[in-house]
Amino acid sequence: MSNVVLKLSSQEMRKMMEYYQNNLTGKTPPGGLFSAKTPQCTITAYKSGKVLFQGSGCNEEARKWGSDAVEKTETKAKTPATPKISASLPNNISSLSAIGSDEVGTGDFFGPITVCAAYVRKEDMPLLKEIGVQDSKNLTDEKISTIAKQLIKFLPYSLLVLHNVKYNKLQSSGMSQGKMKALLHNQAIGHLLEKLAPEKPEAILIDQFAKEEVYFKYLSGQKVIHKENVYFSTKAEGIHLAVAAASIIARHAFVQHFEKLSKAAGFKIPKGAGSQVDVAAARLIKEKGKEVLPSYVKLHFANTEKAMNLLRKSK
Ligand code: MG
Repeated sequence: MSNVVLKLSSQEMRKMMEYYQNNLTGKTPPGGLFSAKTPQCTITAYKSGKVLFQGSGCNEEARKWGSDAVEKTETKAKTPATPKISASLPNNISSLSAIGSDEVGTGDFFGPITVCAAYVRKEDMPLLKEIGVQDSKNLTDEKISTIAKQLIKFLPYSLLVLHNVKYNKLQSSGMSQGKMKALLHNQAIGHLLEKLAPEKPEAILIDQFAKEEVYFKYLSGQKVIHKENVYFSTKAEGIHLAVAAASIIARHAFVQHFEKLSKAAGFKIPKGAGSQVDVAAARLIKEKGKEVLPSYVKLHFANTEKAMNLLRKSK
């Protein structure tokens, strides 16, 4: 289904409600203000000030109300998996206004690590569900990009990209990938808290990559360590929409960077760490020289050696 999202003032919302007086459905979803239906479009206004236009006439209908329409997207109605909430989390965590934090790219030989922290208020949850925010593992890169472009227009977030050159420098100085991730999450959360102040999230949920005590051990010595209301869970994308949204934004940034790398290389660079990346790295070295490798890959992966072996064999 086609979607357009607009953010409107309360005055505009009132005007809108009057305008659709004769089209009101009388059925209001959770968090909704009113819902109206025209022959080509369903309009749902939320208390958060966001208005969702759905259906084949959504663009035309939305154009009546503003030009800053968030891009059109295709969404499929899908029932989200029932989240499993671990005992150490507040049992209402899914419904709290929360920051979610996740990272992408740690297992990919090529490309950076991207970390995103995103803030989802209670009142924005229905809208996020409508535009298709869910576990990014169920979404194609194309779909992720469409949703991410919508999210970054209205969702408070902080995105960090650890490029390959810096990653390799940190790694060769002895820093573990786990520590890099912890530093990035802590920093992204800090930036976002600053953006939100004086508003404070009710919870901060990090998609868990290390035990809690290990995470905080990685952060020891940091000037600011964000600890208040911080929770950890694996599969956190399924527990809070903020983690799902953060993951989608981080993935989108990763894919965008990957496209840049492919452009610079002059051929399509594969994701992951399988044998296909060895072949691609060998080709890159052959065509551009070994010295370009640190700006493309995570050098300490076994793939570097495998690529060198491939090159030797081909000579
Ligand atoms: Mg994760």
